[in-house]
Amino acid sequence: MNTEKKTILVTGGMGYIGSHTTVALIEQGFDVVIVDNLSNSSSFILERIQQISGVLPKFYQVDCCDKAALEKVFIQENSIVASIHFAALKAVGESVEKPMLYYKNNLVSLMNIIELQLQYEIPKLVFSSSCTVYGEPDFLPVTEKSEIKPATSPYGNTKQIGEEIILDISRNSPLQAIALRYFNPVGAHASALIGELPNGTPNNLVPYITQTAIGKQPYLRVFGNDYNTPDGTCIRDYIHVVDVAAAHVAALNRLLIIPERPQFEFFNIGTGNGNTVLEVIHAFENATGVKLPYQIYPRRDGDIEKVYANTDLSNNVLGWKSNLNIEQMMASAWAWEQKLSTIK
Ligand code: NAD
Ligand code: UDP
Repeated sequence: MNTEKKTILVTGGMGYIGSHTTVALIEQGFDVVIVDNLSNSSSFILERIQQISGVLPKFYQVDCCDKAALEKVFIQENSIVASIHFAALKAVGESVEKPMLYYKNNLVSLMNIIELQLQYEIPKLVFSSSCTVYGEPDFLPVTEKSEIKPATSPYGNTKQIGEEIILDISRNSPLQAIALRYFNPVGAHASALIGELPNGTPNNLVPYITQTAIGKQPYLRVFGNDYNTPDGTCIRDYIHVVDVAAAHVAALNRLLIIPERPQFEFFNIGTGNGNTVLEVIHAFENATGVKLPYQIYPRRDGDIEKVYANTDLSNNVLGWKSNLNIEQMMASAWAWEQKLSTIK
């Protein structure tokens, strides 16, 4: 029996989804090499990964836009069999202010990774995409065949262009790729040792909820209650980050094990359920017993009214399914926020 472990290059592996995926990969018997420039993460995450998994992954503090530095990783780590490319900047508002930063960081890093993977003949890639590619959908739930709508921010555009770059290159080279279109990843690892580390005041709903509950924010602003939804607030498909991490292991196994596949595939990664903002608040209160102060505010510019996933393809083709419900998402996010407040 071949017992040699397969090594996976995880760019952005110190970040929110990357750290949870690293833990899942180690638990499934992979070796992990992390590349991260720590632009949106902290070095203490590495020891946390070790605490959870019992393994300290190799870590290179390298910017994926620096091709020469990235190539040194490929030269040194000659047992890599595939990569998962998380490294990207992700703040929608900041991308509107600094489009050049976003296009350069997110697209140059992707092109460098692909070029080096082709050069070193390890052409299997999992790419972090997003449900933002569907914009405001005409039909719900959205399937992978739903129309791709013009991006409403430079960040969203980097995901659309990223998918197009992969598609074009895969048509003309050995590149084999899977793009995972995440819906709204939330929650934290059950150990509460890793989770989301928002930079400054959070823009996203769940970190804002937990920061309000712990007293860092006075109250939650609910952006709009006059949408065409059951309670008037927007609907999203919230998915536990631990389930998102498991989807990457499934995608990787598909790339490594199944020989007959299209060269480029994409999958929705959501639960298939939509929840309104008020439902999320109530789920948080139920799961934690903490009452959340909130006020209704005007709509936030650029918000989509409702979006949630059809997950048939990821369930049937990837063999992956979400397991954790909205209360579990809220309870784990709360445990992480409480733990954070003891170390910050
Ligand atoms: P994150 O910011 O927590 O993690 C990204 C990591 O990449 C960070 O550790 C950061 O330091 C690193 N990084 C950024 N640019 C880099 C570069 N040039 N070189 C090396 N490292 C770099 O974000 P996340 O929430 O874990 O998101 C991971 C991926 O998933 C991103 O591509 C993001 O766009 C995508 N995504 C996230 C969400 C979400 O809601 N979190 C939704 C859809 C898609
Ligand atoms: N939201 C809110 N208050 C906040 C942050 C978000 O009411 O402080 C709402 C937002 O309007 C949207 C939903 O929560 O309807 C999810 O927002 P988030 O930014 O987390 O995700 P995205 O809009 O990118 O899907």
